Amino acid sequence: MRLIYDFNYQQLEEMLLENGFKKYNARQLFGWLYKQRATSFAEMTDLSLRLRQFLQDNYAIGTLEILKLQVSKDGTRKYLFRLADNSAVETVLMHYDYGNCLCVTSQVGCNMGCKFCASGLLKKQRDLTSGEMIQQLLTVQKDVDEMQVRISHIVVMGTGEPFDNYDNVMTFLATANSDLGFGIGARHITVSTCGLVNGIRRFADEQLQYNLAISLHAPNDELRSKIMPVNKAYPLAELMDALKYYCAKNNRRLSFEYILLKGVNDTDQCVQQLAELTKPFDVYVNLIPYNNVDENGFVSTDYKSAMALYSKLMNKNVRCTLRQKHGEDIDAACGQLRSKYERAEGKES
Ligand code: SAH
Repeated sequence: MRLIYDFNYQQLEEMLLENGFKKYNARQLFGWLYKQRATSFAEMTDLSLRLRQFLQDNYAIGTLEILKLQVSKDGTRKYLFRLADNSAVETVLMHYDYGNCLCVTSQVGCNMGCKFCASGLLKKQRDLTSGEMIQQLLTVQKDVDEMQVRISHIVVMGTGEPFDNYDNVMTFLATANSDLGFGIGARHITVSTCGLVNGIRRFADEQLQYNLAISLHAPNDELRSKIMPVNKAYPLAELMDALKYYCAKNNRRLSFEYILLKGVNDTDQCVQQLAELTKPFDVYVNLIPYNNVDENGFVSTDYKSAMALYSKLMNKNVRCTLRQKHGEDIDAACGQLRSKYERAEGKES
């Protein structure tokens, strides 16, 4: 059964009209779903009985089942959820000085095959619907309601490639962002891509106020193709062209994600090439200590060398931050919790 959360506001108006209800019912329903955070149609007492019955007969509603919740020492909360078809997805809530940021999963598994990433250990099974992404937000928000925590930021950086599920991700974000929905500011929303050029260009054309993050991770084609197969389809020159196009159309901040892999992408030559790559852009480089994944042999650059690399970039006038680790003690790296769970359940393919 389709989720009621699959519709953004406009789509909901259309659906209700098509079924003989009123346009203003969409506003009432959105209020119940996203302001009251109701989890049944029965409690929506100002909707007509006929409408409640129609919704009940045709749409699913409610939060996700929490299969597992791990809370780390720094307060990071990592959820493993079960979807209606039994798939398991991970969602992480992180606390920062500036707010509470939810890392949302966009696909069950991922096909991008980045060599360092645990998500790719399990191939993509399907896209998530926009409603399933909303359910991640709703379930976590309800879970932290009593602690007076409000999710203020969203990053689409969980398992999956958002631009490989473009329409559903955008529908989800429309509701997350809408004042009638969760009301999370567009500037507090970040979409992260490994570099699907067509998606970047489409995103640029929409001129939304969301932030764009690029998982760069390597500053030359040879290395990038080795660790990120997507680079063979869209090499750096094409990626950079698409980013120039994006920057010409949007004045939103661009960021490059750069995980630090010891002896792989942290050499002086890489630092030099990275500085060159960033030159044409008003870009922030996020240097990210790598969360070790048991299976793959990569290890993180140690903290001292990471600091040295950070200073070298700063000296070359590259704006960057060295991100602190969150939730390392709870398998918070993408896909780690889920892949461990699926293995424990004997589901590994
Ligand atoms: N497919 C999208 C979004 C999901 S991955 C993308 O590639 O951007 C989110 C981010 O986490 C990416 O930058 C990814 O490269 C990074 N990542 C994956 N595995 C990691 C690990 N073990 N430690 C740190 N970052 C990791």
